[in-house]
Amino acid sequence: MDAHTTSMTDGFHLIIDALKLNGIDTVYGVAGIPITDLTRLMQAQGLKYYGFRHEQNAGNAAAIAGYITQKPGVCITVSGPGFLNGMLALANATTNCFPMILISGSSDRAIIDLEQGDYEELDQMTAAKPYAKASFRINRPQDIGVGVARAIRAAVSGRPGGVYLDLTAEVLGATIDAEEGKKSLIKVVDPAPAHIPDDASITRAISMLEKAKRPLIILGKGAAYAQADEEIRRFIEQTGIPFLPMSMAKGVLPDSHPQSAAAARSYAIGQADVVMLVGARLNWLLSHGKPPLWSEKTAYIQLDIQSTEMDSNRPIAGPVIGDIKSSMKAFLKALKPKQVQVAEEWTNGIGERKRKNIDRMAGLLNADPSPMNFSSALRAVRAGIADHPDVYIVNEGANTLDFARNIIDMDKPRKRLDSGTWGIMGIGMGYAVGAAAVSGQPVVAIEGDSAFGFSGMEVETICRYKLPIVVLVFNNGGIYRGDEDGSAPSPTGFVPGARYEKMMEAFGGVGYHVEDTKSLTQALRDALASGKPTLINCMIDPTAGTESGHIQNLNPKLAIAH
Ligand code: ADP
Ligand code: MG
Repeated sequence: MDAHTTSMTDGFHLIIDALKLNGIDTVYGVAGIPITDLTRLMQAQGLKYYGFRHEQNAGNAAAIAGYITQKPGVCITVSGPGFLNGMLALANATTNCFPMILISGSSDRAIIDLEQGDYEELDQMTAAKPYAKASFRINRPQDIGVGVARAIRAAVSGRPGGVYLDLTAEVLGATIDAEEGKKSLIKVVDPAPAHIPDDASITRAISMLEKAKRPLIILGKGAAYAQADEEIRRFIEQTGIPFLPMSMAKGVLPDSHPQSAAAARSYAIGQADVVMLVGARLNWLLSHGKPPLWSEKTAYIQLDIQSTEMDSNRPIAGPVIGDIKSSMKAFLKALKPKQVQVAEEWTNGIGERKRKNIDRMAGLLNADPSPMNFSSALRAVRAGIADHPDVYIVNEGANTLDFARNIIDMDKPRKRLDSGTWGIMGIGMGYAVGAAAVSGQPVVAIEGDSAFGFSGMEVETICRYKLPIVVLVFNNGGIYRGDEDGSAPSPTGFVPGARYEKMMEAFGGVGYHVEDTKSLTQALRDALASGKPTLINCMIDPTAGTESGHIQNLNPKLAIAH
């Protein structure tokens, strides 16, 4: 046989070649049938592979990596149940507009399609469709290049989202001529092209701002994702318009910026007459832009890459359809000196409210009760991270999320990673691993004890890869709070006084059990200095939490007593 006919390749090699050709260097997943050899080969071929204990967490790691880097985060799972475990992360990525690709191995199509009962039988491509931006199946090895190219483009172009890519076991094992295989691969050119906004849309929006008496800019995580930090800062500073960051947009401009209206949020929202939304949707997180929080008369400008987002909740008088970097550049170019001027009355009004609210908060923050409550513990955390502006903050829980969002200021963009659009619990360890993996920077995960439970087993993953992650478990012994009477487990109570730090110790990491603010700050400083996987079990007053945190209005209460 001559060299030509013996030079063959297979699906395993082709998928890896296709990913590498497109600059994808990291994969998160859980190994098993039929992708075990694929994960081994990935590692052998120089991809960084992070193996998890549950696909949901691997998927969350991929999704947040996508958000931080603007490159699709790739997660790989087994078929059927493994795929479904990963689907939650894919759906969450789509909801949050994070670019991600979920690749799952799948069983025999001929058997699946006749429902003859294959191992882990499931029509995965169809199951993924309602939750994904796009869903594809690769049925022939020569189509791997096209499948990967389409998945990449779908994930990152326009509004980013989650893409599902079904890889049949048959395709993985199939062989084709190596030369033909190589030729079939596609290097995607300009996967996320600029969307330049229409000039008229910019002029219209500026004229709305020119006439506004009380303008307000709201920055969302779309603005953070766009990596247009410099353009956004210049526009805000040149116009002098006050701004409010949504939680994951904290740090696009530092929270300490004088134009931040965060400490006067309700006042600013209630009084604003023209609001410019920059990569933020008028969803439940903004009370849909409706009264009583908002005025009926507020006019909106909205910057978004997705034209169908306009008018979804309130009429948008100033739509600007484009990517945020291009749009902000166009605003800066069109804006004439002093064209937009903000009345002192408005900025002073916000300033006054800010001072009042900050004074009120100070009383709460300076208290040092024993046991700790949420605010005193978070003040201790703030002190512990003060010398580390580069840390990523992962944050979930109910009270733990609400308090931390307000108390932990962010200095740098895309460093705050939290429950996001769904208000989801369970992103903690996945996001922490993803952030550490793509950045090499330290991560502090501030977790409610309930929230931590959803992904807690990944402390083993954190120890295995020796990641610089510090997990803070705010342990108040339950969902929202600990059991009121200790007679029987209630639906919301956990084992009181649980020793979560031993979970980290079990895998070779460092554990701390802290009951006061001083030891909490010290433990956190030591952990960040060591860079070792650490879990700090922070004992919080079991009576400190409120049910449903700040969103009690969303929790229906029994209408008739039981
Ligand atoms: P937040 O929850 O912080 O308010 P959302 O997730 O609701 O933010 O909104 C983000 C918005 O940003 C989405 O409507 C999305 O289409 C948009 N978006 C994402 N990336 C870009 C981009 N590069 N340019 C413009 N808009 C973007
Ligand atoms: Mg709790």
